[in-house]
Amino acid sequence: MARAFAKISFTPNVQAVQTEMGSRAAYRSAELGEAETVALGAFEQAFIAERDSFYQATVNQTGWPYVQHRGGPVGFLKVLDDRTIGYADFSGNRQYISVGNLRGDDRVSLLLMDYPGRQRLKIWGRARMVEARSEPALLAKLELSDFRAPVERGIVIRVEAFDWNCPKYITPRYSQREVEALLVQAHQQQQVAVARQAPAVLGNGALPLTISGIHQLTPRIRAYELRHADGEPLPAYQAGAHLRVPIALPDGSVTSHTYSLTDAPGDQDCYRIAVLRVENGEGGSPALHDGWQIGTRINVDAPDNYFPLHNDERPALLIAGGIGITPIKAMAETLAAQGTAFQLHYTGRAPQDMAFVKDLQRQFSDRCRIYFSQAQNPTRLDVPGLLGNATADTVIYVCGPTRLIESVRQAARQLGIADDRVQFESFT
Ligand SMILES: Cc1cc2nc3c(=O)[nH]c(=O)nc-3n(C[C@H](O)[C@H](O)[C@H](O)COP(=O)(O)OP(=O)(O)OC[C@H]3O[C@@H](n4cnc5c(N)ncnc54)[C@H](O)[C@@H]3O)c2cc1C
Repeated sequence: MARAFAKISFTPNVQAVQTEMGSRAAYRSAELGEAETVALGAFEQAFIAERDSFYQATVNQTGWPYVQHRGGPVGFLKVLDDRTIGYADFSGNRQYISVGNLRGDDRVSLLLMDYPGRQRLKIWGRARMVEARSEPALLAKLELSDFRAPVERGIVIRVEAFDWNCPKYITPRYSQREVEALLVQAHQQQQVAVARQAPAVLGNGALPLTISGIHQLTPRIRAYELRHADGEPLPAYQAGAHLRVPIALPDGSVTSHTYSLTDAPGDQDCYRIAVLRVENGEGGSPALHDGWQIGTRINVDAPDNYFPLHNDERPALLIAGGIGITPIKAMAETLAAQGTAFQLHYTGRAPQDMAFVKDLQRQFSDRCRIYFSQAQNPTRLDVPGLLGNATADTVIYVCGPTRLIESVRQAARQLGIADDRVQFESFT
């Protein structure tokens, strides 16, 4: 306790009661203590800035105290410097009791409550009124830019003393804003708890898989290796196939999403997929990225295929955009292994955002062209030119953004290429 507060509050009558009740000696030593703490410290200033209300007592001409509740948006009571606080006086019921009292006696006593934190700060000071006419700059400091109530004047208080009270008998109470924040917090905690309770093995498929490897291919794309949980050989698939996998969402529900197998068939030990993290969606891919660890167990159905490769000698033109490279990579590897002629054209924003670029360049340097739409020197895929130069028996495969698929289909139509020579798969 600081002497400044004691000097104001420990009047002779108060001291007499302290003496009667046996607490005078303890308070006397506080009065004689060293610190004359009047300047508001960082803690007091932060406390004041977080308040959305306070109680203010003034003294009237007949000596009666008058306590008034003042409310506003959080921070409406402003710290102007370490000895001065102030607030904008919004128009109210037009009784002007506090303002009238201040004309005769500038002394105020403030009580600032933090009910949830069970803290209270008492402030004593001398108040003066600030009018727009005479002190517009100071009044502007007290106003709140996003609060539209009409300001009649400002009240600026020179702090003469303050004191913190003990939390005893302060009942925790919560404003609507605080309740809403607590509800959000509780909801998040519940989601985490539900996610933790998610079943150890997701999915009802007959094929038990374990995540056995995870590789970060680009900042947003992760590759996953999946093996048979019991070490058995995996069912065979053809290039263009996909797996439907179960994913636990943060709200505790389970969804399932489809991911193309990225490698040429032949490895009976391992399936590989690559998953792009899509923000602002239903959250399946972020939940997969965040939830799948080495050892995660899922049950799936055997791979399915809506985007199969032709199985004859005709050459292929493979076109991929972004994450659409996943089935196209499996196709290129298959065609290369079969000895079938093909060309691969892969377009994306920039090399660092595109999965498998180095791998593809290394494997198929003579048959692979990469395009970067957002590189320093952008390179663009000329779809009509590409299709126009293809031989009449070439089968065209395209996977990627809807715009890319549509541009290939449109160019094919314009060039008179039969629909069955244009195969496409859309991820959306
Ligand atoms: C046959 C098939 C194969 C697929 N293979 C893959 C794959 O190999 N790798 C992969 O990452 N995804 C693949 N997908 C997409 C995948 O199934 C999910 O749709 C994707 O992970 C997004 O799920 P989400 O819940 O995060 O967002 P969602 O809410 O499903 O999608 C959010 C928004 O983004 C769009 N969107 C969805 N996927 C993409 C995408 N890849 N690129 C840009 N926008 C997208 C949606 O149309 C929607 O508007 C495939 C989809 C299909 C149908």
